[in-house]
Amino acid sequence: MADKRDYYEVLGVEKNASDEEIKKAYRKMAMKYHPDHNPGDAEAEAKFKEAGEAYAVLSDKEKRAQYDQFGHAAFDQTAGGYGGAGGFGFDVGDIFSSFFGGFGGRSANGPRAGADIRAAVDLTFEEAAFGCEKEVSITKNVSCDACQGTGSESKSSSRCPACGGKGTVNTTRNTILGSVMTQTTCSRCGGSGKVISDPCKVCGGRGTVKRSVKVKVKIPAGIDNGQAISMAGLGEPGVNGGPAGDLLVSVRVRNHPELKREGFDVYLDRTISYAQAALGDKIHIRTLTGTVELTIPEGTQSGAVFKLRGLGIQKLRSTAKGDQFVTVKVETPRKLTAEQKELLRKFDSISGGTLESEAGGQPQGGGGTAGDKGGKRIFGKKK
Ligand SMILES: [Zn+2]
Ligand SMILES: [Zn+2]
Repeated sequence: MADKRDYYEVLGVEKNASDEEIKKAYRKMAMKYHPDHNPGDAEAEAKFKEAGEAYAVLSDKEKRAQYDQFGHAAFDQTAGGYGGAGGFGFDVGDIFSSFFGGFGGRSANGPRAGADIRAAVDLTFEEAAFGCEKEVSITKNVSCDACQGTGSESKSSSRCPACGGKGTVNTTRNTILGSVMTQTTCSRCGGSGKVISDPCKVCGGRGTVKRSVKVKVKIPAGIDNGQAISMAGLGEPGVNGGPAGDLLVSVRVRNHPELKREGFDVYLDRTISYAQAALGDKIHIRTLTGTVELTIPEGTQSGAVFKLRGLGIQKLRSTAKGDQFVTVKVETPRKLTAEQKELLRKFDSISGGTLESEAGGQPQGGGGTAGDKGGKRIFGKKK
């Protein structure tokens, strides 16, 4: 999987290609490399498969978004480590036939991929930032215990009369490429070559029952609200030997009481006093990994932003990290005592005197607002 080609490169389209462009590019490649046009050409066959796989991902909105973010690791259980069993299970034949409307001779009763199952997990801010393991409960079809998945009460079956046990029948189909002789799955037995005469009472002969299953999901560090993890092969089982569907787990990230996130950067608002802003100080700042000291220089203005490099969230598919930004807000002192007010007036006076009224706009009688300061002058004389 390591030297797998980029899907956009495979189809020869730009990263921002539209759905229509992707479809067009795939059609061209598929027609050019289709095994029927290149008999015995292994390279063409490989290219045909590669194009089919690329199209399967890029034509699916959700899978494309995952691919853009995680690369091949999104679908590669060995490298990505996002948990789950089995490979991605692309069935190029299915992709091709759905694209070209049945070309390739697949009957409705042939192998079909199982449906995808969707689930969601709630994460704390930190769980999303650092990654974690979560358990989700899903309801899916599993092998029936009563008949051991055979669908038969006596766990026995007899040879299918329609196909004589082969599981396939030969048919001739007219396609866009002319008349083609194809082998299709037997519709009577679904390709198994066997039929059941005594259906299991528990599962009604299906061989599967619905059950609640717990699945462990490995959440990669750096995941964000609304993103999803695809676990190949953990969806509904395939039909008639088809591959299982995927389990798609979307992530909801809860807000943090103090920290905010944007991309991989973390934001924090911090209130400091007028004295801290004017004189400078060393303050303690909450970060994702603990507390760090931040030097507030003398004369810091309200709204100043400080950057704590590398203290943000780990980027997906990378060891790099975002940054933390601290916005300081200088708090104007409230409810000053008489002594504090006196000192402030003195401070203002030796600073050149910015107060325009004698009382410094001081409200009297306890209920003054900015709007009535004009009228206050009458009562505003200091006692
Ligand atoms: Zn049959
Ligand atoms: Zn059963």
